[in-house]
Amino acid sequence: MTDMRLESKAISILKDKIELIPTAEGAIYLVGPIKLPVSLYGETVTFQWYCWLNCREVAKDYEEIIHKLSDMNLAEMQQSSVLVYGDFAEAEDALIRMHSICHTGDIFGSKRCDCGFQLKQSMQKIVEHGAGALFYLANHEGRGIGLFSKAMAYILQENDYDTVEANQALGFVDDSRDYTDAIQVLKALRTKPVTLMTNNPRKLAAMEQAGMQLSGRAALWGDVSEYNENYLKTKIVRSGHLGDEEICSND
Ligand SMILES: [Zn+2]
Repeated sequence: MTDMRLESKAISILKDKIELIPTAEGAIYLVGPIKLPVSLYGETVTFQWYCWLNCREVAKDYEEIIHKLSDMNLAEMQQSSVLVYGDFAEAEDALIRMHSICHTGDIFGSKRCDCGFQLKQSMQKIVEHGAGALFYLANHEGRGIGLFSKAMAYILQENDYDTVEANQALGFVDDSRDYTDAIQVLKALRTKPVTLMTNNPRKLAAMEQAGMQLSGRAALWGDVSEYNENYLKTKIVRSGHLGDEEICSND
């Protein structure tokens, strides 16, 4: 088999699994669903996984996108993705979580925040609910400041700055996360209302501004320890998180 024939076979397989979502600046290419069995609290749960790429230029066809992949240096930038559970498009109610990437919390299990705990909790709640989606937002590290800046912010926090003050001292606004891409992907996967799992009113506002139909909010409890109590308190006092659950999570 020649290279050319191999490529055309790959393209014919992939073209049904790529969806183009037009955006104001270009297009989002959404690839999936891909069956993803996940180990969750000792059980194996199967999600449907999708990944997306936001491009400024719209390719004339999927073949062009596939041809460009090897030159795009994608490993140098993080891509976002979404884990979908159940009959997401059609279920009467679906539970949504917009999870901001946290290298230290999600991967290392850092106790300075409770992201890793919340990630697993939100996956579990989606499964219990029967239908939902967990959006894993790769450009949201450290509330949008990036991992390297977050390391510097942590050093400031070890020297009496709170989370908000540390970000501001480094020249960042407190929270620079953007949900536009994720909401466009959500709309491509489901048009019915959703319940958003969050304690953060900014997320509710961002979803509503983007025209998302919200049927409600579900609280997400955090994992409080001596290492993150100041961080969680700052979120309530400084970042406007809803404190009505007494203990707030860090979304
Ligand atoms: Zn975290």
